[in-house]
Amino acid sequence: MSARDDLARRVVEFLAEHDPDTTDRVEFLRARYDAGLAWVAFPEGHGGLGLSRSLQAEVDRLFAEAGAPDNNPRANGIGLGMAAPTILAFGTEEQKERFLKPLWTGEEIWCQLFSEPGAGSDLAALATRAVRDEASGEWVVNGQKVWTSGAQNARFAILVARTDVDVPKHRGMTYFLADMTDPGVDVRPLRQVTGEAEFNEVFLSDVRIPDTQRLGDEGQGWQVANFTLNNERVAIGGRALPREGGMVGIVSQTWRDRPEARTPELHDRLLRSWVEAEVARLTGVRLRQKLAQGVPGPEGAAMKLSFARLNQQLSGLELELLGEDGLRYSDWTMVRPEHVDFTGRDAGYRYLRAKGNSIEGGTSEILRNIVAERVLGLPAEARGDKDVPFKELPR
Ligand SMILES: Cc1cc2nc3c(=O)[nH]c(=O)nc-3n(C[C@H](O)[C@H](O)[C@H](O)COP(=O)(O)OP(=O)(O)OC[C@H]3O[C@@H](n4cnc5c(N)ncnc54)[C@H](O)[C@@H]3O)c2cc1C
Repeated sequence: MSARDDLARRVVEFLAEHDPDTTDRVEFLRARYDAGLAWVAFPEGHGGLGLSRSLQAEVDRLFAEAGAPDNNPRANGIGLGMAAPTILAFGTEEQKERFLKPLWTGEEIWCQLFSEPGAGSDLAALATRAVRDEASGEWVVNGQKVWTSGAQNARFAILVARTDVDVPKHRGMTYFLADMTDPGVDVRPLRQVTGEAEFNEVFLSDVRIPDTQRLGDEGQGWQVANFTLNNERVAIGGRALPREGGMVGIVSQTWRDRPEARTPELHDRLLRSWVEAEVARLTGVRLRQKLAQGVPGPEGAAMKLSFARLNQQLSGLELELLGEDGLRYSDWTMVRPEHVDFTGRDAGYRYLRAKGNSIEGGTSEILRNIVAERVLGLPAEARGDKDVPFKELPR
């Protein structure tokens, strides 16, 4: 029996034992995890069956067709897209056992405490300090993070902090799994250009993290964080969409609905964007096929780059097509959305929110540097701080 057929048989048997109509939602999700039908590529015992990643879409489709509850993936994008693969790759057995299941079921939401006021693009410049308390073995963390999406809902965070100031910046960082309910964690909303507050500032004052929540070795934080960031770019830019899915579908529909707004120039721009969107979609298919064979590489940076550019291009075109209607903005009330809702909101929202696409998950300028250096093999940007201890860097 092929792996695909065997998987389909497992889903049928699971559904026979756990009727989605009568089983409690969380119980259903926990049982699905235990049956290895959550992340099928993950090892047995950690939500998977050690199968190819390419089978995930199939198992998700079978559950969706049966009317099974999903784990609300958009509400826990950072957990599922970034924390989980990093914990799987670098975590101890105890960490995998403790964190992966409630992460997958959505019982515990995760956020990402990476960026700081002085360390965004240059993440390795971060200054949040983690100092080991020799008596208890715990780490004591002090500093400020910024742009932390979803921190208001998060139970846990992936956190990078500086543990050694005597070595060059890339070598003195360590990666932690932080409990957002611990004393000393202060989450304050930041309002965006859309009027909403998806993200926050997070102040960390004497937050104590047990050493069992260190992910990877002390000083290995840069390597672990880079693994997370490669996954982040794919998670943001590499979503599987049908033809005319996402923004291009919305704008194409507006074009069909509004013959009076058409001009040859807008027609030309729409067609160019449509072709670019199709190229990006098919590149995404190829990237996911490559991913099924291994971990995401720097190609994900190109995907995220074109996703951001297209979203901005298309949301601008949509406003032009809508004329005056496009300038109306329905609601400026400060809300804390559960996720970014491009397709469910009006054109003004899409236009404003798309601005963030070229910043979140790494700016387009930085992604171009990555593509230039790691994909095309062009000479690296000059870096004068590579061999200088962090404490001697001008700040
Ligand atoms: C909607 C949204 C959600 C976010 N969510 C999170 C989150 O959950 N967690 C988190 O940790 N962070 C998050 N971020 C932060 C995001 O990752 C950073 O904003 C981003 O990395 C840029 O850093 P910065 O804002 O400090 O800009 P800076 O680093 O100050 O950059 C400013 C400008 O200079 C350019 N620049 C800087 N260095 C170079 C260079 N070497 N070459 C060329 N150009 C350069 C940049 O590209 C940019 O245009 C989020 C951001 C947004 C917009």
